[in-house]
Amino acid sequence: MAQFNDRTIRAIDETVSCICGHCGHNVAMQMFSSTTYGKHIPGTGTKIEFEYKIGWCSLCGKPSLYDVNAKKWLPQSKPYDDVKFLPPDIQSLYDELRNAYAANAFSCSIMASRKLIMHIAVNLGAAPGDNFKNYVNFLDKNNYTPKNASGWIDKIRDAGNEQNHELIIASKDDTDRILKFVQALLKIVYELPNSL
Ligand SMILES: [Zn+2]
Repeated sequence: MAQFNDRTIRAIDETVSCICGHCGHNVAMQMFSSTTYGKHIPGTGTKIEFEYKIGWCSLCGKPSLYDVNAKKWLPQSKPYDDVKFLPPDIQSLYDELRNAYAANAFSCSIMASRKLIMHIAVNLGAAPGDNFKNYVNFLDKNNYTPKNASGWIDKIRDAGNEQNHELIIASKDDTDRILKFVQALLKIVYELPNSL
């Protein structure tokens, strides 16, 4: 059984700029406490040391924890923007793919993005049961994609297909490309018409 000792708790007074995992805004996090501990692993003679810092968000007031060793905030902030006026099913899938991205689960995030793009295309009048490439073509032909983005759209068609037909682990860059597309599409289809 692991033993915990060498524990310290000390007050700190630091302000750190970060994206708050609760409210999603870029804020000044007011760090007030740091705790460290060492964990001895019996029989091995080794010890692992951890450090966590706690702070309050200056905007929403909720606390976040910073894992100094892993260089990670808990809760993690979701990447990409919140989009207004999303139907509940679309909102739920968009949250899921942003959470997958935040957890470095890029292949999961791409597959959810692909599913979302197909779902939106069908909602906009594309025939059900078609393939991903044709759905991207549908969105492109019907002016739901930016005019000067043809090279980018080509890569999205390929990225979506690769993930489902071959076993390729997606990179962060592949995922950024498709998530930027999803975010733009959601804003064009749902947020913009309801904001004007
Ligand atoms: Zn906040």
